[in-house]
Amino acid sequence: MIDAQGLTRRYGEFAAVDGISFNVDEGEIVGMLGPNGAGKTTTLRMITGFLPPTEGHLTVAGKDLFSDPVAARREVGYLPENVALYPEMRVSEYLRYRAMLEGMSRNEAKQRIPETVESCFLEEVEKQIIGTLSKGYRQRVGLAAAILHHPSVLVLDEPTVGLDPKQIIAIRELIRELGHKQTLLLSSHILPEVELLCDRVIIIDRGRIIAEGSPQELRESWIGNTILRVGLKGGPTDALGVLGALPGVVDVEVLDAETGSYRLECAKDADPRQAVFETAKQRGWVMLELSEERASLEDVFVRLTTQEPSDGSARVAVDDATAAEVPS
Ligand code: ATP
Repeated sequence: MIDAQGLTRRYGEFAAVDGISFNVDEGEIVGMLGPNGAGKTTTLRMITGFLPPTEGHLTVAGKDLFSDPVAARREVGYLPENVALYPEMRVSEYLRYRAMLEGMSRNEAKQRIPETVESCFLEEVEKQIIGTLSKGYRQRVGLAAAILHHPSVLVLDEPTVGLDPKQIIAIRELIRELGHKQTLLLSSHILPEVELLCDRVIIIDRGRIIAEGSPQELRESWIGNTILRVGLKGGPTDALGVLGALPGVVDVEVLDAETGSYRLECAKDADPRQAVFETAKQRGWVMLELSEERASLEDVFVRLTTQEPSDGSARVAVDDATAAEVPS
């Protein structure tokens, strides 16, 4: 549905987006994740036709954004980071205005506006002046305007930024609903949001794609060895050596000697939990904790985006990730 090849945007010598290539398939929800200044907004603005790339090829729903820009832009609905609405207009007036801009006939608009109002849960504020709406409702109006013309692809730039927790939940639910009907590309730096909403994640840093895959694939490929936390009452004096000698344990660290808290790094695919339990039983240690530390997408994100700039081989697809060097 979106096919970007070698997409680049330079400002003078500086490449805000540096030759990135990716696809978004029909019906997918893809999240673009990256720290501030990574190049997310620049990428989304190129896809939506608001910013011409310096280099590269880009098609949306099979339409080339360079040779057929009007047709390509018609395939896209865009919710920018700071959605510009007309505060003095009523919601219904604004949607009629947007329908007109999209070149809809009166009859088409008559049918689509109520449909869109319903799918964005705007019925109760339809007659309200936009300037008097809460930020959450304004965001929904922005979304309604973006989907009014039935685009094949919906592009959302930081759709929940600046909203309160209740509004965030409501907008996420709406995005999830829209994702059932449309192909969706969204940017965010809220990791749980991406994990919750997206089938696939593209991590971007310094204008380059540094990893790509489902949240689960990224966690599995980038986090390496399993970590166990073990709590032994009073911290037995010989615990460190005994735990370190168990099969499958490659390293032990004392987290807190007084409370007897240990961190065990295990070999790939090893699960020494039963051995830890049986050893504790045999030695009469009182076990207070035995748990596995689960890697989060946040761990992956921090690892990937805090590494030094690479020499140009920045992109690491998930399939290649095991062969790649993971910074410690
Ligand atoms: P954020 O999460 O903070 O919104 P982002 O990932 O969306 O960040 P972009 O807004 O795409 O990042 O910016 C990428 C880089 O390009 C930044 O270093 C930014 O300062 C730079 N940049 C963006 N627009 C311009 C411009 N018009 N002129 C010069 N540099 C720009």
